[in-house]
Amino acid sequence: MSEKNMETLSKELLFKPEYPTDKNKALLEEANAFCEGYKKFLDNGKTEREVAEISEKMLIEAGYQLFDDAATYKPGDKIYFINRAKCVVAATIGSESMEKGFRLNIAHIDVPRLDLKPNPLYEQDHFSLLKTHYYGGIRKYQWGTMPLAIHGVFCKPNGETIKVCIGEDESDPVFCITDLLPHLGAEQNERKLSEGIKGEELNVVIGSECVTDESVKEGVKLNTMILLNQKYGIVERDFNRAEIEIVPAGKARDVGFDRALIGAYGQDDRVEAYPALMAEIACKNPTFTTVCVLTDKEEIGSEGVTGMQSDYAFHFLQQLCRMQGADYIRACQASKCLSADVTAAYDPTWNSAFEAANATYAGRGVAFAKYTGSRGKGGTSDACAELVAYVTGLCDEADIAWQIGEMGRIDLGGGGTIAMYVANRGIDTLDIGVPVLSMHSPFELTHKIDILMLYKTLSAFNNAKA
Ligand code: MN
Ligand code: MN
Repeated sequence: MSEKNMETLSKELLFKPEYPTDKNKALLEEANAFCEGYKKFLDNGKTEREVAEISEKMLIEAGYQLFDDAATYKPGDKIYFINRAKCVVAATIGSESMEKGFRLNIAHIDVPRLDLKPNPLYEQDHFSLLKTHYYGGIRKYQWGTMPLAIHGVFCKPNGETIKVCIGEDESDPVFCITDLLPHLGAEQNERKLSEGIKGEELNVVIGSECVTDESVKEGVKLNTMILLNQKYGIVERDFNRAEIEIVPAGKARDVGFDRALIGAYGQDDRVEAYPALMAEIACKNPTFTTVCVLTDKEEIGSEGVTGMQSDYAFHFLQQLCRMQGADYIRACQASKCLSADVTAAYDPTWNSAFEAANATYAGRGVAFAKYTGSRGKGGTSDACAELVAYVTGLCDEADIAWQIGEMGRIDLGGGGTIAMYVANRGIDTLDIGVPVLSMHSPFELTHKIDILMLYKTLSAFNNAKA
């Protein structure tokens, strides 16, 4: 064969990964426009409760009705409900019977963070501090010496819920976890990185002034409590019935001179939740009923009444089937689910953690994972190749840039997500997501193109006719 033929054959037979914007800069403009809304979503939603609240507003503005299990809905109707202020479920009724299956888009809106302990407030050496218990997989040493904000709710026995959000407005104070100065760091430097700052050292400074009456015991703590009482009407006992989260203060930012990356706290998994919600909202008159679930508790194993292992989302599917007189088992058997969660982006500085040919890359498009898990694919649902073919086929048809890979080098670690909790119900499920640099850190990086491609994929999936 001639050399030219080999070149042609090489193009026809071999696959060479590409970065979509290398050939099409207009895509970046489209991604920029889409991501302005995403950045606002991040800034306004730093906790699962805040994300549920802004999502509900977006749904109502888009014409969604609060789901009534006694009502009958017709094709094109848009309905939603909020589970315990922490999970969002939204759906658009399809023209086909429920028995033909649902199109599920699921993502999670909880994020690794520091929760307050039940009895968090204490005074020591003329400071008031809060004791925290970290939530999810954080690298504790990353949380010292940075501005922190306090978000959450105090729940009163009379049913009243008092919302707290302080540290985000320019005029607000912020809070901080201290670290040792290098001058006195000799002993700490000998610790393992995982113990650089230990769990019981994640104490947040929230005050340093005392009441004027010197005879009062714990005058600094009292001074802080007086300020809290003035602002929120709470007493110390109210910390016992609260959900207060310590998160990095500040807004999402563009990263890099070309502004193609976004840096922000909480992108795992709001970088999926936002496109999933937007794709659900944009979907008009689908063939199959679309259901978008933004769930809680993924970062700690999806257990509990707001986690994906709970029945709350599946009860909703059952209720929809009941409304139509459709068989729920048939509906599950015919359903398809895209389980959207972040994956690790190949990092040039830490490249030894990855296997280059099977890594996923920031800027190469939406990333699929046939399986996640660890130690020989443990703890994952391994999607059927038929489903991978179906979804990637939709991408190819719509000219959506996609890649597929694994989280990192075999046996270095790994991780799971919520796909298996849907797959275990007999619903075909595939993992999809945006690659993230510095995942689970206070400032995660994503590429705008990948976010746009995720949105386009979920839209194509929701609107598919077969
Ligand atoms: Mn996640
Ligand atoms: Mn995570």
